[in-house]
Amino acid sequence: MNAADDKTIVREYFNSTGFDRWRRIYGDGEVNKVQLDIRNGHQQTVDTVIGWLKADNNLSELSICDAGCGVGSLSIPLAADGAKVYASDISEKMVSEGKDRALQTLGNSDNPTFAVQDLESLSGSYHTVICLDVLIHYPQEKADEMISHLCSLAQSRIILSFAPKTCALSILKKIGSFFPGPSKTTRAYLHREADVVKILESNGFCVQRQSMTKTRFYFSRILEATRQ
Ligand code: SAM
Repeated sequence: MNAADDKTIVREYFNSTGFDRWRRIYGDGEVNKVQLDIRNGHQQTVDTVIGWLKADNNLSELSICDAGCGVGSLSIPLAADGAKVYASDISEKMVSEGKDRALQTLGNSDNPTFAVQDLESLSGSYHTVICLDVLIHYPQEKADEMISHLCSLAQSRIILSFAPKTCALSILKKIGSFFPGPSKTTRAYLHREADVVKILESNGFCVQRQSMTKTRFYFSRILEATRQ
């Protein structure tokens, strides 16, 4: 399967069965135990990133690109805290849900700005570019290009999260929980931290903060890197 096929499958997944599944996981309604575990893990990742950004005490001065924003789990609280957020995702269903949630939480507001857009076609310049839990859809050779592109949009900082390859065995055992049923054809790619750091460094960025979220069914390594 080539990368273009991968991307089409991912888009279709997040506009159909994947949308229903992840909207529930990223919500507060009733879910099964595995989904609850993933919900809690993902929330920890979001909270870690918000904690880092708030610690710098300049959120209201920042422009933020949330690439692959899903239903706005990160974008909406960041906008509520005063950052100017540009939120985009390849899935129109996820974006539409994000808009609805922003309206419910923030009322009529043009912040975040939501767009249906894949990462590769993003342009512009932002203080901080954030991409959480999207790299799992990219094989390493595509991930290199994708990270380099995101770096080119970041004036000062990039924050990425990915499923680390060290947890490969445990994740592979549980991968059926990530992509159940017919959508198992959606591949999950793990990434070596050293590879991610290398590509960040080759784009002029240096890792400043790092964290690991690990629950039973959710693993996410988070790196913050700043431009040198
Ligand atoms: N970043 C969000 C969060 O942490 O709440 C969503 C994470 S979700 C696991 C992965 C998201 O990446 C999905 O909403 C999916 O549609 C999006 N995605 C996957 N490939 C993408 C691409 N090439 N361009 C933009 N978004 C993409």
